[in-house]
Parts: sequence; structure tokens; C-alpha cells
Amino acid sequence: MDIHLRNITMKFQDVYAVQNINTTIKSGQLVSLLGPSGCGKSTTLMLLSGLYKPTSGDIYFGDKNVTNMEAEDRKIGMVFQSYALYPHLSVLKNIMFPLRMEKVPKKEAKERAQAMTKLMHIEHLQDRKPGQLSGGQQQRVAIARALVKEPKLLLLDEPLSNLDARLRLEMREEIRRIQQEIGITAVFVTHDQEEALSISDHVLLMKDGVIQQHSKPQSMYRYPCNRFAAKFLGNPPINLIETKHGQTQEKLHLHTYNQTKQILAAEQRDVTIGLRPEDLYVSSKENHLISGQVIHMETIGRDTMIRVQLQEETVRALIHPDATIQVGQTCYLGIKEENIHYFNTETGIRLT
Ligand code: ATP
Repeated sequence: MDIHLRNITMKFQDVYAVQNINTTIKSGQLVSLLGPSGCGKSTTLMLLSGLYKPTSGDIYFGDKNVTNMEAEDRKIGMVFQSYALYPHLSVLKNIMFPLRMEKVPKKEAKERAQAMTKLMHIEHLQDRKPGQLSGGQQQRVAIARALVKEPKLLLLDEPLSNLDARLRLEMREEIRRIQQEIGITAVFVTHDQEEALSISDHVLLMKDGVIQQHSKPQSMYRYPCNRFAAKFLGNPPINLIETKHGQTQEKLHLHTYNQTKQILAAEQRDVTIGLRPEDLYVSSKENHLISGQVIHMETIGRDTMIRVQLQEETVRALIHPDATIQVGQTCYLGIKEENIHYFNTETGIRLT
């Protein structure tokens, strides 16, 4: 079931939480709503759930306009950051609860709940109370409970925020496994770009209630549509170097960078170039793009991160740990031309 948001706006008093959203979430896909705090992710999720009604616009589940349909009629499963389990009920009874509320006979409810414990790999925890479970196990129960009614859409609101780094990784793989195994359409809210990029079929990036980009994770990373998207994705963050029209030679050594030369010359305005730290490499004096003094070095995993002082800005580069570089040295950095991003400095919009 495809989900369509058509001209959706949600206004709280004088705040536009989301503004004129138009997008389609494809059936069976996991889509992340990504963006900084306050960008409208949770509001969008609440609109999908039916707990909020939009100020204007329409929501379609397939061909059906559900804008005015109540939450309980939408066949939705929800998982929150707080697991919201009933502490006095066992794991199995927690999972059975939504079915019992719908008067599903006890035997059937039990069988369906048990099938869910199997799917979530928590069969052995059926009789425990939530207080006797780890955070990750509680989240598995919450997901099982959200899925037991066989919803058409699964909504997850920052479900991994309360877990430590290792468990987050494990649970995000689990969520992906289950989502694919049962083929459910899922919308996953997160402000963590790495999480969004790793788990999703598509990422919907938001800022100030407006969709910035809706694309596959890799294409959002490789072709960010504007400076905001470029900066929001990637860690360490992308380096942005502002060049003044006609004065690029002061910052960039364009000797062998013919395409860049052409692009900068063609644009009759200031251009910001984006260089991802992992795309930069130590190069020779003849072929470099930028150069400066190394002011800092540290080891990040298997790479070495260096910071290089240019005229105004500093640039981060992730380089091979064997590179013979020292703090205080002049360093020449190169990049493949196809990895350079160009943005209109004034509007932030991507060029080329
Ligand atoms: P976070 O990551 O911090 O949860 P978010 O991206 O989910 O943020 P929303 O919670 O959707 O953002 O909020 C979007 C904007 O709408 C914010 O400016 C917020 O202050 C405002 N807002 C959200 N809910 C309400 C409300 N019930 N009343 C008034 N303003 C609200």
C-alpha cells in the first residue's frame, strides 16, 4: 500500500510544524524521516498515525483518503522511544493486549502473540515482566506488540534513542530484518544520519517543516541537493569552502582540475565547494587542489584524521594511517573531480 501525502500543512498557533509536504512512501519500503530537532519529523509521524489532523492537505493510504479517519481505524502499529509496556503484565500478555482489546478469543490471541515472540527472537522471555528485561529486549516486546494486529503501516518514533551504541546497532539491524521479512511499509523517525542511511530504502530529509530531499540513502549522500543536506549527512562533516567569483586561485590550485575550472568560470556568482573528508587524499605539490599547514591529527578507527589550516577555513581529511604527515607540516590534498560538490553560495542549491 503506497502512502501519499498531498500538500500537507500542520500549524500550531503561529508555528508551521510542517509545510506543504508532498511525497509518496512506497509499499513495502522503510523510509526514514531525518532532520534536526524541531524540523517536523514527529509531527509528520503523528499525521500519518491519525493522532493529528492536518491543518490542510490530504493523506491517502493507497487510493483511500484517510485524512479524517480516526487513528484506531488506520491499521497502524506504533513503536516509541519509551517502550510503553505494561509493567504488571508478562511479555506474552503485553503482546496479546491489543488483540484482547479487540475481543480476539484468548487462544487465538495467545497463538498470534507467540508467533510474534518467535519473529522477534524473544520466545524464551514470554513469562517475564518488563522490569526483568534489558532495554533492547523491551524494545523487541514493544515491536512485537505493534505488529501483532498485522498492521499495514509501522511507525517508529526514535525507537533506538534509549539504547547504548552496541544495542542500537543490533536493534537497527533487527528492525530492518523484521520489516523485510514481513514486507511491511515502515516510517522511521531519527535525527541520526548514520542510522537513517544504514536502515532505509529511502530517506526523507526535513528542515523547518519542509522536505529538502527524498531519495535513496546513497544518492542523498553522493548528490546532496543543497548545502544543508550536504552538511547534515556525513561524519566527520563535509568541508565547505567559499570561493569568490573570479578569485578562486587564492584558495584552490586548479592546475589539473579542468572541469572545476570550467564550472567556477561558468558560474557568474560565488560558489561554495564541498569536499568530503573521506574523499580527500594526500597528493603531490603539482596535482593538489588545496594546501595548508596541518594543525591537528587524530586516529579515528582505521583512519587518521587531519585538520589543515587554509587561509580562512580549516579542512578535515581522513587519510591513510601510513601517510607520513606530521603536525606543523605543509600538506597538499587532492580529490577526484567527480567527488567535488558545488553549491550556489547565496541560495545553497547544488550546481551541476
Ligand atoms: P525532535 O527531534 O526534537 O522530536 P521533530 O523534528 O520531531 O523534533 P516536531 O516535534 O514535529 O519536530 O516539531 C516541529 C515544530 O512544531 C517545532 O517547532 C515544535 O516546537 C512545534 N510543535 C510540535 N508540536 C507542537 C504542539 N503540540 N504545539 C505547538 N507547537 C508544536
